[in-house]
Amino acid sequence: MKVVLARNAGFCMGVRRAVETTLDMVRGADGPIATYGPLIHNPQVLDILGERGVTVLDRVPEGNAPATVIIRAHGIPPGEKEAIVASGAGVKDATCPRVQKVQAIIRRHLGDGATAAVIIGDRNHAEVDGLMGHAGDCGVVVSNEEDVAGLDLAAPYIIVSQTTQDQPTFDRLSTMILERFPGGRVFSTICDSTHKRQSAVLDLCDQVEAMVVVGGRTSANTKRLGEIVAGRDIPVFVVESERELDPGELRSFRRVGVTAGASTPSWIIERVIRCLELIPGAGENIFIATVKLGIAGTVSLSLYAAMGAGLMTLALDHIRGIPPLAAHFFIAFAYIFSIYNLNRLMSRPRPQYIDPLRYFSLIVAGRCCGPFPLPVLPSPCSWPGKITARGR
Ligand code: SF4
Repeated sequence: MKVVLARNAGFCMGVRRAVETTLDMVRGADGPIATYGPLIHNPQVLDILGERGVTVLDRVPEGNAPATVIIRAHGIPPGEKEAIVASGAGVKDATCPRVQKVQAIIRRHLGDGATAAVIIGDRNHAEVDGLMGHAGDCGVVVSNEEDVAGLDLAAPYIIVSQTTQDQPTFDRLSTMILERFPGGRVFSTICDSTHKRQSAVLDLCDQVEAMVVVGGRTSANTKRLGEIVAGRDIPVFVVESERELDPGELRSFRRVGVTAGASTPSWIIERVIRCLELIPGAGENIFIATVKLGIAGTVSLSLYAAMGAGLMTLALDHIRGIPPLAAHFFIAFAYIFSIYNLNRLMSRPRPQYIDPLRYFSLIVAGRCCGPFPLPVLPSPCSWPGKITARGR
C-alpha cells in the first residue's frame, strides 16, 4: 500500500534534548543515574534507557540517593527540585526550554500581582503538575467546559496553556473564561512544534483514506493527534509500535498516512512504515506487490552486490579456461553478502539497522502477502551497539 508520512512526525526538540542529555550522562556516568518520573512518554525508549542502567524515581529519594537525577522534559514543581537537591543527589535539569518559558510567565505575572494562573491542559499530566507547582496556591487547571463553570476568578489573572494542547480547545476555553471573568490576560503557550505537527496531520487527512498514529499510550500529544484525525471522520489506528498493526483491517485501504507523537523515536516510525508498505493495499495485485517487495529486499540486503561478485567469479573461471564451479559462485556470494550485512549490523546505530533482517525474514518466510500476522522483529533493546536519540 502507499504510505505517506506527515511532516513533523516524531521527536520534538525538547524530547530529543532530554533523551540526548540522558544518553550523554550514561556515557560519562560516574555513579547511578535516575530520572525523576519517566523521562518521556514512550515505553520503548524507556526500556532502552533501563537497559543502560537508568532507573526511574517515583518520589524524592530518602537516603541512598542516586549520583544524578535527571529532570524530564515536562519539568517538575520547584519544591520537588529543591527536595531532590536536599537529598544529596546531583540534578541535571532536562526541562524543555519552551516549558521553562511557560513556568517563567506564571512566576512573573503572579509576582506582578496577578491573582490566579489558569492552566488549560490535562489534569495530572506531568507538565501541568509542574506548572501548578510554579503557580502555588494561585494555580487552577481547566480541562473542559465543566471546569470553566466551576471557576471563580478575580481580575487581573492570566491564562496559559499546556504546551501540547490543541489550539481550537485552547481558543474555545479561554474565550469562555474571558466572557465570564473579564480582565484576564491570555498567553498562547502552545509549542510551535505541536502547532506544526497538528496542522500537518490535518493536511494529510485530506490525502489519505486512513491514518496510523504512532506513540506511547500515556502520551497526551499522541492521544490528541488521534482525536484530531477522528474529528476528520477518517479511520484512525493509534499504535505504540508495528506489532500492533492489524494487516486484516489495514488491507482495505489503498493510501494510509502516518504521523507520530513528540515522544516517538524515528526508528519506531520507520518500522511502522516498513510494515505498512508490506501490506498489499485494496485492489493491489498480489504478484506485483511480491515483485516490489523482492526488488526492495534485493536492494536492502545488497543481494545485487553479492550476485555480482558470484557472477564475476564464474566469468574469471571462464577466462582462465576452467569449468565454472557453483562452489566458486557461492563462496563469493556468501562473502560479499555477509560482509555487507554484518558491517551494517555492527557499525550502524542499531535503531536504524532494521531493514535487512526484515526483508530476509519476509522473503524467506513468504509471509508478505499471505493471511499471516506481520513478523515481529526482536526488540532493539536487546541488540548490541550504540544507540542514538536521532529523531525525524
Ligand atoms: S512539545 Fe514543545 S514544549 Fe513540549 S517538549 Fe516538545 S518542544 Fe518542548
